[in-house]
Amino acid sequence: MNSAEILASHGPRESMEYDVVIVGAGPGGLATAIRLKQKAAETGKDISVVVIEKGSEPGAHILSGAIMDPRALTELIPDWKEKGAPLNQEVTDDAIMFFSEKNAVRVPGLFVPPNLANHGNYIISLSNLVKWMAQQAEALGVEIFPGFSAAEVLYNDDDSVKGVATGNVGISKEGEVTGDFQLGMELLGKYTVFAEGARGHLGKQLIAKYKLDEGKDPQSFGIGIKELWEIDPARHQPGLVLHSAGWPMDSNTYGGAFLYHLENNQVALGFVVGLNYENPYLSPFEEMQRWKTHPNIRWYLEGDESKGIKAAKRIGYGARAINSSGLLSLPKTVFPGGALIGCNAGYLNVGRIKGSHAAIKTGMLAADAAFDAVQAGRQHDELAAYPEAFEKSWLKVELHKDRNFKNWFKKGLGRWHADERLRAIRPARPHPVDNSPHQGRSRMLETRPRMPRDQIPQARWQAHV
Ligand SMILES: Cc1cc2nc3c(=O)[nH]c(=O)nc-3n(C[C@H](O)[C@H](O)[C@H](O)COP(=O)(O)OP(=O)(O)OC[C@H]3O[C@@H](n4cnc5c(N)ncnc54)[C@H](O)[C@@H]3O)c2cc1C
Repeated sequence: MNSAEILASHGPRESMEYDVVIVGAGPGGLATAIRLKQKAAETGKDISVVVIEKGSEPGAHILSGAIMDPRALTELIPDWKEKGAPLNQEVTDDAIMFFSEKNAVRVPGLFVPPNLANHGNYIISLSNLVKWMAQQAEALGVEIFPGFSAAEVLYNDDDSVKGVATGNVGISKEGEVTGDFQLGMELLGKYTVFAEGARGHLGKQLIAKYKLDEGKDPQSFGIGIKELWEIDPARHQPGLVLHSAGWPMDSNTYGGAFLYHLENNQVALGFVVGLNYENPYLSPFEEMQRWKTHPNIRWYLEGDESKGIKAAKRIGYGARAINSSGLLSLPKTVFPGGALIGCNAGYLNVGRIKGSHAAIKTGMLAADAAFDAVQAGRQHDELAAYPEAFEKSWLKVELHKDRNFKNWFKKGLGRWHADERLRAIRPARPHPVDNSPHQGRSRMLETRPRMPRDQIPQARWQAHV
């Protein structure tokens, strides 16, 4: 039986109504929920908010070990330190390395690209942060339903989104109902905020249905594989951030690796590979395992009995999709009855490999728009105030600055860095790459400040394409 047949024979589904339904309890979804309830408390109005999360608890599906820019969190919860947010390890050192098979060269501090500088950021367990955010949300009166996956978008007759339905459980692999069968339920909202993370399956459907990506560059994705290790205290350098490029990736494949020293003798290490790799035999997982054998990485993991160093212990691992396009591929983020936020929309800053701050910020912006709309008695229309607020936000400025990072990566980080330095001296210098990796072509982009295309010296930009 397919799901329509199951619904016909076992329905109708039970439903619950809320002002705002949020799909996904990541940093973005929880920031939306917290902001909505904060606004309600500030104004003495009420708003009902539910978050559904497919993991067994908030944070269960979040890969730990990330560098967090605390800017958005500070805007959301200014006293996060006093409230015990798990941001305990500030970044102490940034090492950018180029690897060959046996050697490594560290980029001198002066040449570290500004987007990879992490002064003032924290190395955290993102999963612990999400658990803490869920506690803050619940304390404000947000209902969180873990263990429920939103399986279907529900529409009104006018094609606006009216909520989501959770999946049925207790269906055999042949599609028949079993003794454990339970019909999914409907969560109906005046507005539904989709915060599923990168390549969310409902987000994908919404982008296609409402043609939200029309006129935008195609979205592209990478796979990020991460492992959490406990290492010998003698090899632990709390706050050290290491990023590497080069071996074992060839120069045609977009990717790189990282190793972050958290608190408690833990390191998070991982590898990101763009999913447009040309070699069909390339296995991102195997490449990561090879990378771990590089002398500069294995040193942290291997024991050395002669020096009394214990071998490191792997305590967790996982893999997820990661956005790898950027601002030029950002779809329209609102549609009748709902919004896309965080990595579900593609707000990750690829050049900084950071998206948690962007998820929190866009969650807050969507919450502001939804709160005002609900208080004005509106429902199921477009939250235009959200993208308008994004256009005026610091996040837009940040993403605009790094919008061409990936294409520069393809042409060589050295060239990108040189261009950025030149741009600091000559801001009108045109950007010679765009963000259309699948189109196999480059074109001129708007620059900062904007220079009319016909005034750009032809020879200079043509030389790059
Ligand atoms: C390898 C790797 C390294 C990274 N390193 C960093 C870093 O150092 N710093 C940084 O800032 N960012 C980093 N990121 C990016 C960061 O993880 C994301 O930007 C951030 O988590 C996005 O938040 P979000 O709330 O949009 O989505 P997510 O954090 O992905 O949360 C989405 C949540 O929704 C749930 N969900 C999804 N679909 C459904 C559904 N249909 N129904 C119910 N629940 C659903 C998921 O279980 C999940 O809990 C990294 C990402 C990867 C993959």
